[in-house]
Amino acid sequence: MARSARIGRVEILNIEDYAPPPFNSWDFFPDVPPDAWEPHRAHHALDGDGKFRVSFGVFALISDDFVVLVDTGIGPSVPEMFGGGEGRLIRRLREFGIQPGQITAVLNTHLHPDHVGWNMTDGAPTFSNARYYFSARDYEHWTSEPVLEHAPHIPAQAQPLEDLGLLELTADGDDIVPEIRALATPGHTPGHQSFLIESDGEKGVITGDVIHSRAQFTNPEWSAGADSDKPQGVGTRVALIERIVSENLTVACSHLVVDSNIGHVVEIENRRYWQPL
Ligand SMILES: [Zn+2]
Repeated sequence: MARSARIGRVEILNIEDYAPPPFNSWDFFPDVPPDAWEPHRAHHALDGDGKFRVSFGVFALISDDFVVLVDTGIGPSVPEMFGGGEGRLIRRLREFGIQPGQITAVLNTHLHPDHVGWNMTDGAPTFSNARYYFSARDYEHWTSEPVLEHAPHIPAQAQPLEDLGLLELTADGDDIVPEIRALATPGHTPGHQSFLIESDGEKGVITGDVIHSRAQFTNPEWSAGADSDKPQGVGTRVALIERIVSENLTVACSHLVVDSNIGHVVEIENRRYWQPL
């Protein structure tokens, strides 16, 4: 159970915006037969009732030089389909002693509504001193017709940032700050990006939605129903897990259940498993 981890001079702080009600595994992973989950139950991939849980997670990356947020959660008012409660990112940040005005950059892994929900509040940027980083490919996708027509969160949470001159568009390999670099990891969305952290010889990665379940570290061929290009997503997941193992990266996953969403991937008898810190 870890609330935070350290990679060199960068602290990763784990903040839950909201926890939606648990899902049936087959609703979230429609291509995975319910039986296939059985071996994973011993590894806590499902809860005690056999349900699949996710968190709408945000990570703060903190050093002497910056306070960066990776994703902004589902936002202040949670849609009915996810429980209809209230996102608590800002309250939680304040509990950790972080004021919204201290955030220097907001990095969105992709432009789904559960990752950009607090980008704007009441028509103004929530993080008034931050620049916002979207992948160019994802922004192009989400602002194209007819995608935009069915994505009301884009004019609310993404496009105003361009109009205000606060938007930075990223490509694979771009440095955000010297310790944080964008890594193209497409498949969940066309321009999905993860973020590599390297500081004082230590390394980590924020995976975004390359991973939704810890079982996917063992079965990377499992795709979430929300993945827009499943074969591409599988390829991305396989490659990222290889890199995680070969470089022994510390890993932070936005949707794993809070306090078990930062960890390592370990190999036991040629199989890989999630090992939370
Ligand atoms: Zn997501």
